[in-house]
This record gives sequence, C-alpha cells and structure tokens, in this order.
Amino acid sequence: MEYIAAMQNMSIDQMIAVIEVLQRSIDAYFYIMDLDTDTYITTRKMLARFPFGNTVTEHVKPLLREIVYPNDFPKLETDIRRCISGEQAIHSLEYRWFDVDHKIVWIECKGTVIIGKDGHKLLVGRVKELGREAPADNITGLRRGTRFQYNAEELLRDRPQAINYFMRIGIDNFKEINEKEGVEAGDNVLRELADCIVSTVDPKVDVYRLMSDEFMVMDAVPGSDRTAAEVYNEIRAKVADTVREKEYSCFYTISAGVLQDDFRGGDANMVQRLTEFALNEAKRNGKNQMALFDRSAYDEYLKRLDIRKLMRRDINDNFQGFEVYYQPIVSVRDYRMIGAEALLRWRCDKYGSVSPGVFIPILEESGLIIPVGRYVLWEAARMCKKWREVIPDFHINVNLSYVQVHKSDLIKDVDRCIGEVGVPAKSLLLELTESGYIETDGRIKELFRDLKKMDFDIALDDFGTGYSNMRYLQEIQATTVKIDRSFVVQALKNEHDYNIITHIIDMVHSLGATVCMEGIEKEEELDKIMQANPDMIQGYYFGKPSPAGQFEEQFLQPAALQ
Ligand code: C2E
Ligand code: MG
Ligand code: MG
Repeated sequence: MEYIAAMQNMSIDQMIAVIEVLQRSIDAYFYIMDLDTDTYITTRKMLARFPFGNTVTEHVKPLLREIVYPNDFPKLETDIRRCISGEQAIHSLEYRWFDVDHKIVWIECKGTVIIGKDGHKLLVGRVKELGREAPADNITGLRRGTRFQYNAEELLRDRPQAINYFMRIGIDNFKEINEKEGVEAGDNVLRELADCIVSTVDPKVDVYRLMSDEFMVMDAVPGSDRTAAEVYNEIRAKVADTVREKEYSCFYTISAGVLQDDFRGGDANMVQRLTEFALNEAKRNGKNQMALFDRSAYDEYLKRLDIRKLMRRDINDNFQGFEVYYQPIVSVRDYRMIGAEALLRWRCDKYGSVSPGVFIPILEESGLIIPVGRYVLWEAARMCKKWREVIPDFHINVNLSYVQVHKSDLIKDVDRCIGEVGVPAKSLLLELTESGYIETDGRIKELFRDLKKMDFDIALDDFGTGYSNMRYLQEIQATTVKIDRSFVVQALKNEHDYNIITHIIDMVHSLGATVCMEGIEKEEELDKIMQANPDMIQGYYFGKPSPAGQFEEQFLQPAALQ
C-alpha cells in the first residue's frame, strides 16, 4: 500500500480523486475516514453496493450503526477507538455489513492510520467483500470460518426449520501433535480428518474448517436420516482406521460438540459460542467423545462467568461484599478456645450469599484468589492482634489456595502482613489442602521449608479426602492435620472407618504433629470422637463461623477488647 504514504501530502480532494482512480482497477471499495471529524469519504462504486448515500458523509457514526450488523458494531467501535487513541495504527477486521438491499454481507476491512496534510488523523483503506469469493483453506481445501458465518447467517434467517444440527469437531491435544511431531505432521492430520469428515457426511452437507484444529459440519439437508451421533461415531471410527493404517505414526482422537435445537432465534455467532461450549464439555468429560449442547450446563457456566464479573467488580470496590467469618477451634485438653479458622464469605444483591464451594473455585480459576487471599490474610492478622489481648497465644488459621502458593509471592505477602500488622508469625496458621501438587512441584517443598524457618505453623487441611497421605505431612512439615468432616461423619457411622481414624491419629502423633477433627455437631459425636484421642475440635457444636463482631461477643470478653 505505497499509495498510502504518498497520500500524506495530499489534500482531501486530491485523495478522493486518487481513490476513484484506484477503484477502477481493484475489486474492493476504497475509503478515507477522518478520525478527528468523523467524516467518511468513499467512492461511487461503494455507493452502488452499500447504503452510504453520498461519497462524503459527515458525522458518519449514526449511519455506520445502520450499515454495520448490530452484533458486530461494538467490535468495530473498539477497533476505531484504538486507532484514535494511537494504540494501533492498523485497522483490520472481518465483520458484517448490510448492503443496499439490506442483505448481510461479510466484509474484510483493512486500513492504515496516517496524519493528513491538515494534521488530521486519517484512516485510509479498503473494504473487500468476502462472500463474493469462496475463501478456501490451503491445507484441507475446505471453506473457512468466515464463509461458515456467512452461510449459517443466511440459513438461520431464511430456512432455520431445515437445519438438522451443527457439529463442531476438534482434535484432542492438537497442540501436542504440532509440538512433538512437527507442523507438517499436524497439517497431515488436518487433511486426514477433513477427508474422514467429508467422506462420511452426505455430499450436500456443508463442512468448514473454522480455525486451527476445529471443523464445523452444518447439516440442513431435507430428509437427512442419520443422527449427529451416528455421523460422529462413523468419523471417529474412520480416524481410528487411518491412525492404524499409518501404523500409529501419529496418534490422535477427536471430540465433538453438537447443537440440535438451541440455535433457534439466534445468529451464527451464537452457533459458534454454543458449539464451542459443547465441544469443550466433550473435552472436559475426557475427550474422544461427543457432547450434546446442554442448556442447563451452559446457564450454569454463564452464571459462573457472571459471578466472576461481579466478584471482580467487588474486589475493585475495596472488597465490598466480601467478609471473613471466624469459627472457634477448641483444645480437647480443657475445652479452651485456642484459635479460630478464618472462612471467607461473599454476597451480592443478585445471588445473595454464595457458598464458598461455588465462589472459591471461581476465584482460583481466575487468579482473583491472589488479591482476595491477601485481603483474608490482613483481616485475620488484624483480628488476631486484637484478640491476642484477651488470649495471648490465640492464632487464626488461614486457608491458602494452591494458586496463591504457586502463582504469587507468598513468602513476601505473609512477611509483609505480619510486619505491617505487628503480630508474630505464630499468630497465623497456614492451612493447605493437598491436591497432588506437592509431589509434582519441587519448589513448593522449598517454600514450606522457608515458611517454617520464618516460624509459621502449617496445617494439612481436608485430610481423608483426595490425595492426602502421610508422606506429605513430613514433606510440608505440617504441625497439624485437619481431618475433614466427611471422614469424621463416616467414622462416626462405621467401626471400620473409626479404627482407621484412630490409627491415623496415632501415626500423626508419632510424627510429632497434632490432629484437629472438623465438623463435630453434637455431644454424642464429641464423646465418641474423643476416644480416638484428637488434640483439637472444630465444629458447630462449639460454634458456627460468624462475623468478627459476633465472634467477639460470643467467645471473647468484650470488656477486655475496648
Ligand atoms: P475448610 O477449610 O475445610 O473449612 C471447614 C469447613 O467446614 C467450613 O466450610 C466450615 O463452615 C465447615 N464446618 C465446620 N464445622 C462444621 C460442622 O460442624 N458441620 C458442618 N456441616 N460444617 C462444618 P465453609 O466455610 O463453607 O468453607 C468451605 C471451604 O472453602 C473451606 O473448607 C476452604 O477449603 C474454602 N475456604 C473458605 N475460606 C477460604 C479462604 O479464605 N481461602 C481459601 N483459599 N479457601 C477458603
Ligand atoms: Mg480450612
Ligand atoms: Mg478442612
């Protein structure tokens, strides 16, 4: 686009003349957009195809809102905003316009930002219609995603009742094939799979290559008598045959996500989103399988996204909606309260109070547990300082998530926290759930060694669920083992589990650590569990988790806290 550089010294009139001339030789529509005045200049050829009205349009935004397909407008607006702010100098988007007959047209718009003669920021470029050509993918020969969008849009608008299903097919672990076997092997796999798909479906069924390793089958053939599951199984069997014929030189499997009815009333973007979700479900369920789009699972997923958004908002609003509750931990020797566990709560107007079982994993997936974990640490340390005035050796147990341990500078955080608040390390007892990572991550053992050196005590949480085993106890040098409520409940019901718990307690003791039993609710439970010889009890029997103020009133002498 050398002509763009030359345009820098031209007046607008000269530019218009130039683009009119260029226009004659090229199958695209030229435009100049003055980003400072919001003026859009284009050619007569463009006017014949798209409803611009004039070659020069001042204040073009309202008109663009009419020409651009509504769902795509925000994408365009963001891109233009970036050009105006100087974040980017190139505009390049594929999206949809309405033509003069109000038909949807996929276009590719490219442009470059230049400073014109009068000092204005100009976007100079061209709009190309994608629908006119059939952009095929070089590797598989199939049509590409943009073409799918175009065709699906038309089909959903004009003949939705004809659609049998959309099936999105993905190769399991495709990235690994590229990495381990090389890009060429990856390309071969794509070609093989494309052949398997095309040779399986009815010749009238459309097959597209959407992106990297994903394909879309769009069946809108009247009287099609095979279900999506049958078609998927056949493709999968062919893939397995091909892999065998090639003597396992490159092993791979495929998953698929199918949308059968839920596309009604939606557009191609929605089909993309819902099939992608179904494909991800198939992969999450273990790969090498097909998943039908499940509305309730999708709604659940959207709710989780919404919760994540609301929590992010609340975190930025000074942890609004978050609160730390405290539950007493009692020593069995004299039933004296020796500490408390800090338990995070979150509520919002839309969903009320949300269970930690739901919101903690969302915080972990998004990394938001790192700032929230710091908030809990500081809150707990501050409360502990206050409560130590009444009970000098009081400590607060703080739960640490693996994400905090793995992805944040935990040593720095805990050190800063006790320094800023002014409490000894022993006032915070760090609780950690073992979930298989201690074994695989050598740095973690080192981290715990450092925490011990700094005088922090560590508890192994949720013992009896998942991965817990005695070896970790030594590896992380835990001072306490917390036996999970589910295990305790089991032991109260059956003699065999009770014996196991008794042995575990003996073993923990022989390693020099102490045991805290979680979830004791009733006196009979306490009596029975006491015979197993634990050191501490935490459960509703001694107190439910409660806000700091209530905890003080209930368990600490209010007068001494003034
Ligand atoms: P956890 O660390 O094992 O905490 C003990 C859980 O058992 C708490 O559930 C507590 O309310 C519950 N519990 C205690 N005694 C009884 C009882 O007698 N009966 C019954 N039915 N339940 C009892 P909660 O507060 O719902 O927390 C659930 C989990 O969420 C925690 O399990 C912990 O893994 C996580 N969590 C809570 N706060 C935080 C936090 O600040 N950071 C991190 N990373 N995780 C947290
Ligand atoms: Mg805990
Ligand atoms: Mg626990």
